[in-house]
Amino acid sequence: MGTIIDGKALSKSIRKELKEEVTRLQEQSNKAPHLVVVLVGEDPASQSYVRAKNRACERIGIKSTIIEKDDSITQTELIDLVESLNRDKAVHGILVQLPLPDHIDDNTIIDTINQSKDVDGFHPLNIAALQIGTPGVLPATPKGIMTMLESVGVELKGKKALVVGRSNIVGKPVAQLLLRQHATVTIAHSRTQDLKKECLEADVLIAAAGRAKMITGDMIKPGATVIDVGVNRVDDKLIGDVDFEAAKEKAAHITPVPGGVGPMTIASLLQNTVECFMNIENLK
Ligand code: NDP
Repeated sequence: MGTIIDGKALSKSIRKELKEEVTRLQEQSNKAPHLVVVLVGEDPASQSYVRAKNRACERIGIKSTIIEKDDSITQTELIDLVESLNRDKAVHGILVQLPLPDHIDDNTIIDTINQSKDVDGFHPLNIAALQIGTPGVLPATPKGIMTMLESVGVELKGKKALVVGRSNIVGKPVAQLLLRQHATVTIAHSRTQDLKKECLEADVLIAAAGRAKMITGDMIKPGATVIDVGVNRVDDKLIGDVDFEAAKEKAAHITPVPGGVGPMTIASLLQNTVECFMNIENLK
């Protein structure tokens, strides 16, 4: 039976270290990192994500402000708001909670955020930095996944990694990060012909498709490391993309849902906020 990679515990230890770091930086600069989260509309899931991020910030000494806007806000008004936050020297991180209402183009808003305050790492310049391998803000979920792999000492060099899903926020960036660590990376998606065959070859399997239990036990290579990014609500329960009970019998390491990638995404967001603060304020 495989070892469970406990994202909750790892996230807790990262947040503890960050809290000490924030205290030190505050003593050094007399300033605290400040994250502004912009929430448009009343989507309950978005509201709960934003509240969770806010609480996590406050607990480690990051000032967090939520700006709530009615979904009647126009794209121009939202751009103006983001630009004013870009100019505000007391703001170190800007996060616009996605998805935005249909009349607003997500990409246009992301493009407006100053690259150095883009704590989500979604700005095209940060994505370009990720591709090229130059310094930039890494997207939170892929960064958290890499931290988890590192925490259990998974060897990536020369290993076969399969990423199931090719979204801009998870699949593509995590594939880039695996490549950076010298894995041989395959990306599967909804048109992939023989997913089971691809999975069975994977030493490291990252499931990020958003399909409950689509990766069954017989798709896991014995001894593989399995990272389950999926969050699917089924009968009021959160279920991953991997059939955890069956897969843990085959895997060497596996993440649970909940308590795996989710808490690591938050920890990485906090790390990004502190990183943006240090860069903007020129702190070490
Ligand atoms: P998207 O819906 O943007 O992307 C899903 C990807 O999975 C697409 O590339 C799609 O392929 C692929 N896919 C869908 N069905 C299949 C299938 N049957 N076989 C192979 N590939 C398939 O999702 P996200 O990347 O935003 O999120 C993925 C999951 O991760 C979701 O459950 C989401 O809730 C969760 N998530 C969790 C986070 C966390 O912190 N724990 C953070 C972010 C996301 P195609 O491109 O061909 O359509």
